Amino acid sequence: MWAVRVTLLAALACLGNEAGTLSEPSALKNSGFAPKIQYYRISGSTREEIRRALQTHGPVDQFGIHRHAAVDWKIAWSWPKAEDGRPRIDQISCRQDITIILPQWESEPTAPPELITAWNQYYNRLARHEAQHVLHVVDNYPAVEREIRAALEINPALTFAEANKTGHAVLNRIRDLDLAYDEVTQHGRLEGISWD
Ligand SMILES: [Zn+2]
Repeated sequence: MWAVRVTLLAALACLGNEAGTLSEPSALKNSGFAPKIQYYRISGSTREEIRRALQTHGPVDQFGIHRHAAVDWKIAWSWPKAEDGRPRIDQISCRQDITIILPQWESEPTAPPELITAWNQYYNRLARHEAQHVLHVVDNYPAVEREIRAALEINPALTFAEANKTGHAVLNRIRDLDLAYDEVTQHGRLEGISWD
């Protein structure tokens, strides 16, 4: 998993928003994990205008607070049914769907070069922070299938509801990782992410 981790972080850090242009996240595609990236556009020619745009247009988190970036993730699992209608939990398959939401500043001709430099630094740190949230999912979603299979091995009569409960416990662990990371870093502030 380490190689993927490095590739993903490097790819996100390279995405850059340099003066409003986008580079293709090709390294991300090559990593085998393909979180989608959804940009929301902001404009402004001063730090304050950008700050207001981020606050107005940034994604809203589970607590109803506007953030400057976010990771939306879903983990789903399923299994086929046997002819008698019973779930074939032994044939479980699991998949993830990850979208990173990031700002794209369309810098204006009047924007001073130091504002562009500050933005690029800010954006790269923001992307790196979100990449860590992505890794929480990438690293841990295989545990859904692994732990359901392990539960089935211990109890071959494992029910549909019991299997789902095991899966949801993994999702809760990922949510806890996200919450703990944001608490420890103060939503990235302690990683130098600030646009005040
Ligand atoms: Zn965060």
